[in-house]
Amino acid sequence: MKKYAYIIVGSGLFGAVTAYELSKRGYKCLVLEKRNHIGGNVYTEKIEEINVHKYGAHIFHTSDKEIWDYVNQFADFNNYVNSPIAIYKDELYNLPFNMNTFSKLFHIKTPKEAKEIIEKEKKESFVENPKNLEEQAKNLVGKTIYEKLIKGYTEKQWGKKCDELPAFIIKRLPVRFIYDNNYFNDRYQGIPIGGYTPIIEKMLENVDVLLNTDFLKEKEKYMQMGEKIIFTGPIDAFYNYCFGPLEYRSVRFENEILDMENYQGNAVVNYTDFDIPYTRIIEHKHFEFTNCPKTIISKEYSSKWKLGDEPYYPVNDEKNSALYKKYHDLAEKETRVYFGGRLGQYKYFDMHNVIRSALDYIKTEVSQK
Ligand code: FAD
Ligand code: UDP
Repeated sequence: MKKYAYIIVGSGLFGAVTAYELSKRGYKCLVLEKRNHIGGNVYTEKIEEINVHKYGAHIFHTSDKEIWDYVNQFADFNNYVNSPIAIYKDELYNLPFNMNTFSKLFHIKTPKEAKEIIEKEKKESFVENPKNLEEQAKNLVGKTIYEKLIKGYTEKQWGKKCDELPAFIIKRLPVRFIYDNNYFNDRYQGIPIGGYTPIIEKMLENVDVLLNTDFLKEKEKYMQMGEKIIFTGPIDAFYNYCFGPLEYRSVRFENEILDMENYQGNAVVNYTDFDIPYTRIIEHKHFEFTNCPKTIISKEYSSKWKLGDEPYYPVNDEKNSALYKKYHDLAEKETRVYFGGRLGQYKYFDMHNVIRSALDYIKTEVSQK
């Protein structure tokens, strides 16, 4: 007899949602987490009255009402709207690209004037089938915006020149001819009041959890303890990198507690100039409009990833997609193991996508019982 119906590896959103849904239906679950806390990358920690997003800023946004209602069972969300600022050579611009950005860049007032300038620039550099990010970006927004607001940021973020990066990375840059600084087009958006950790705590309230426990260090033992395994760690690690490691981009956070009330006046400020070594500065208190005498900022340095570092962004280029397919083919043959989440499926999932995919998995899984 197995002791648990499910051994769930990882206490991030995918692991926590599946643990919650399965235990609610009476299946006994054990969650294993190799870090010393639950929550995966959405983990927030309260420091000086401020909920700090320890693994990078997390803004919840979705157009899926079912997912919005789902997360609202576990927390009250505030009305935070993400409106990042970009700084390029000491000039300040609003993001995403909208009339506020265009009026500052081109000294114009109306959408007609903005469109004329951008269309002219787009024509000047138009390429029929954009083969790389530089060509794609110029096709979308023209040379001025590309050079001031995209090139430096993207090259820091990905550690490669824009003409060596795949075009698909910026397929989704919103361009708006209205005065609207809301970064997302989604219908619902906000930050959970009190941070994300309490959401995960509620999901795991009735579930056995072992922290500081690396499943892969005692794989055979845990494989025997559960009838099924839900694995949300890196899929290549599960197979001992038998085809070689998948590539990631890593991020280093430099956190500072400052003896001042307000450092930059906005939660997110992007530095789009290549010469500034960090990509952005996050001021955490502004996510929850926290009123306190100190402030905490995190400078984000995008960095090269090597085996053993925290994997943050999957690099979904051709080479890595082909490598992932090999691991995925192995995974398809498993009868007792399911791979889920950002690392298990090697996909750049946002939080709402992870919850959707966890709920879809549960639906199929329980219908087969
Ligand atoms: P994870 O959160 O990575 O959880 C996996 C867990 O498994 C981790 O806790 C890990 O320690 C554990 N684990 C791994 N291997 C083992 C092992 N062998 N044994 C035991 N435990 C193991 N999404 C948004 O919607 N909005 C945002 O603004 C946003 N910002 C982001 C910013 C950054 C810098 C990053 C990197 C991501 C951001 N995301 C954002 C995406 C979001 O973080 C993910 O969608 C979500 O955290 C994925 O959850 P997960 O459970 O798949 O993975
Ligand atoms: N980007 C950019 N300038 C910016 C912000 C983003 O050029 O000021 C580009 C960059 O290529 C980045 C992509 O847009 O990789 C997606 O950025 P976003 O902030 O939407 O995603 P995140 O890094 O938060 O996942």
